[in-house]
Amino acid sequence: MAEKSHVDLGFVEKTDPENLTCQHFPSKIGGKPAWLSLAPLPTPNQLQCPKCSGICIFLLQVYAPVEDDSNAFHRTVFVFLCKNPNCHQPNSNAPFCVVRSQLPRDNDFYNPDPPTPATPIPSKGDNLCAVCGIAGPKCCAKCHSRSYCSKEHQVIDWKYGHKQNCSNSEEDGSTKRSQVLFPEYELLIEEEEFQKKEEKSESEKKEELSSFLTSDKASSLLQDCTQEELEKMSNQSEDRTFSKFRKRVEHAPDQVLRYDRGGSPLLVSNDNKPDNIPQCTCGAKRQFEFQVMPQLLSHLGVDQVGASIDWGTLCVYTCSKNCYQGNQYQHEYLWKQDYSK
Ligand SMILES: [Zn+2]
Ligand SMILES: [Zn+2]
Ligand SMILES: [Zn+2]
Ligand SMILES: [Zn+2]
Repeated sequence: MAEKSHVDLGFVEKTDPENLTCQHFPSKIGGKPAWLSLAPLPTPNQLQCPKCSGICIFLLQVYAPVEDDSNAFHRTVFVFLCKNPNCHQPNSNAPFCVVRSQLPRDNDFYNPDPPTPATPIPSKGDNLCAVCGIAGPKCCAKCHSRSYCSKEHQVIDWKYGHKQNCSNSEEDGSTKRSQVLFPEYELLIEEEEFQKKEEKSESEKKEELSSFLTSDKASSLLQDCTQEELEKMSNQSEDRTFSKFRKRVEHAPDQVLRYDRGGSPLLVSNDNKPDNIPQCTCGAKRQFEFQVMPQLLSHLGVDQVGASIDWGTLCVYTCSKNCYQGNQYQHEYLWKQDYSK
């Protein structure tokens, strides 16, 4: 299998939220999305959880332009998920939503030259929900100055601050309201340092094993195998997938994302492997782009007793042709793989 020279890894980094606004073209986790195209944004309906009808909350975005594609001079992939733990089932991608945005260098929103700290915030764009930062087609009927994606978020905003501040344009920093969002971090991307040598020793091991299995010694041993032992051996391929995962991650245990566009994901289990990935609406094949690692969960504050948001890995697949839809957001595909029980 032809493999690219390296995988990029993503790490969580605390930073000034000022550095994570859209004109900086950030890769980030949590907080509100830093939209690329500023209009039209995905509608609240498009970011609705199919299970509970709640609005999916922004999880992360990866800024990943494609060098040889002038329509992907800027390119960002966004992942959203429903925060209701009851919507999360093993190996089910239902409460997740992925969208991709692309813009050429000359576009409706940003200066064609690299942004400097002095670049003003682009002004054109849809109204944003004051709570979660997605498109906000509804607004406060009294002051008309705050927008919302849904009744649900309008109620939260009213309860935790806007009631006192309505008709008074001051922004208050209610922490209760911001609990709707995941904690905000920069997603720092670095090249994976990984010695190919170890991969070799893994395949050497496999070779050793197969030559052993065909040897006389093995056949006499295998005759003595109990049912239980045979069972154990047949489960070993599964363990091998997980042990490969563990070994590879060991080199940089804090990684929360692996980026390898056109490559293949590092799976956590031999069960429920990504399969039958639907093609893009443009007709092109979707290819693997990045995976979200289980390490990210520890930064999200989602642990709770009973039902909980959880994953082995989230594999994101995007259009191999990067079809360009103007300022529109294009839906992409996520495959959730959990550890086998
Ligand atoms: Zn839901
Ligand atoms: Zn909202
Ligand atoms: Zn108001
Ligand atoms: Zn496409």
